[in-house]
Amino acid sequence: MTVMHETDAVIVGAGPVGLFTVFQCGMVKVRCHVVDALEAVGGQLSALYPEKPIYDIPGHPSILAADLVERLSEQAAPFHPIFHLDTQVSTLSRRDDGRWLCGLSNGDSITARAVIICAGGGAFGPNRPPLDGLAQYEGTSVFYLVRRREDFRGKNVVIAGGGDSAVDWAISLSEVAARVMVVHRRPKFRAAPESEARLKQLAESGAIELVVPYQLHGLEGAGGRLSAVVAATLEGETRRLDADVLLPFYGLSSDLGPIAQWNLGMDRNLIAVDPATGATDAPGIYAAGDICTYPGKLKLILSGFAEAARVAHSAHDAVHPGEALHFEHSTTSGVPKG
Ligand code: FAD
Repeated sequence: MTVMHETDAVIVGAGPVGLFTVFQCGMVKVRCHVVDALEAVGGQLSALYPEKPIYDIPGHPSILAADLVERLSEQAAPFHPIFHLDTQVSTLSRRDDGRWLCGLSNGDSITARAVIICAGGGAFGPNRPPLDGLAQYEGTSVFYLVRRREDFRGKNVVIAGGGDSAVDWAISLSEVAARVMVVHRRPKFRAAPESEARLKQLAESGAIELVVPYQLHGLEGAGGRLSAVVAATLEGETRRLDADVLLPFYGLSSDLGPIAQWNLGMDRNLIAVDPATGATDAPGIYAAGDICTYPGKLKLILSGFAEAARVAHSAHDAVHPGEALHFEHSTTSGVPKG
């Protein structure tokens, strides 16, 4: 059953800028729904560099990307945003009453007076291996991230890839899985040297099986349940690996995707905005963060935060037309208790 939601503003993207936009909107009494294609909030910080320290966030001489995401979520929480994760905003159309209708990839829709696009470089998604029948196993036997290590206890797990995620998860899951096999096309891995050394140590002790130099070739199973993964060398020699689960870790890529079809004024794949308001050339549609451009734009988190404040004030005017915004500092108005 599809659901039709209504709110004041839809925020497209739950990266750092989308999360801070929730807070800024809350401060001017604009309620938000937030949609992100990823399964977790945080945008690039969660998807690409959660454990890297960031040094240019005002007031934080150093903060891990994952910690910044946690703090931003905490700061947004008192305003009770509704999150739609693992979901893309696919379509954007104007209704006869002037409100905007966001069509979501899961069939639901959200109607709002304002849409704030904080979509970074576009929607993130996993790089999928080109295997026949892959879709039928996704979410049941094929996963692109590990939510809970315990889900893999006692399972035969095939991990594909040669980067940090593949190596780190192979090491971690070897403690709970019945068997961990790592399929990689080269004997050399692209992970931190100490992680690669640990992987090889575990392989020597038999706790992990390295299937190299092989790449994924096929899947066997029925009804969404995997029974084996077939790996092949470049010369065509194949191996059948008994498997309950396949974890392909081939990284993420972002794609501007549907946003390019929304008829917004663009400048080299970025949304052109008026720097004074964050407004695009469509009434009620604003953009902030990496996705927007204007003369002098800096693609930095801190610039995105300032843009978040600007678009929230603009959204206030779209959501509450004719109502004067009495600007107050947070120290004066405070924030609601979570
Ligand atoms: P993003 O973080 O890209 O988030 C956008 C979100 O929108 C994504 O989660 C995406 O899935 C979602 N999305 C897009 N389209 C849709 C759609 N149609 N439907 C649903 N969801 C959608 N910046 C700094 O200021 N300091 C640093 O030290 C720093 N270090 C960095 C290190 C690395 C390795 C990288 C890659 C970047 C770094 N940056 C740094 C840049 C910083 O991460 C970006 O400026 C910041 O992430 C931009 O935030 P954002 O919210 O605009 O976009």
